[in-house]
Amino acid sequence: MADKEKKKRKADLIRSQKTKRCWSCNTHMNLEETHCPSCKRKVGSVNEHGVAVQPTAYFNYLLAVVATVGLIYFLYWAFIKN
Ligand SMILES: [Zn+2]
Repeated sequence: MADKEKKKRKADLIRSQKTKRCWSCNTHMNLEETHCPSCKRKVGSVNEHGVAVQPTAYFNYLLAVVATVGLIYFLYWAFIKN
């Protein structure tokens, strides 16, 4: 019950936002903006604190996975193969 009220209050707070702030440089912008006008970074939807959510950086996660697999293969090739 209390959890439902908390969710409703959060949704009301999000709906009452008129502008949002960049997660990186704190610049105020319109709710429709997808890129910060100041630092040009991607911004997502607004949260209950009036801050734009940082979009998930899928490419960076992919790069981290590829680099980890490459490191494991290198360690195998250099120390375990023979
Ligand atoms: Zn910014």
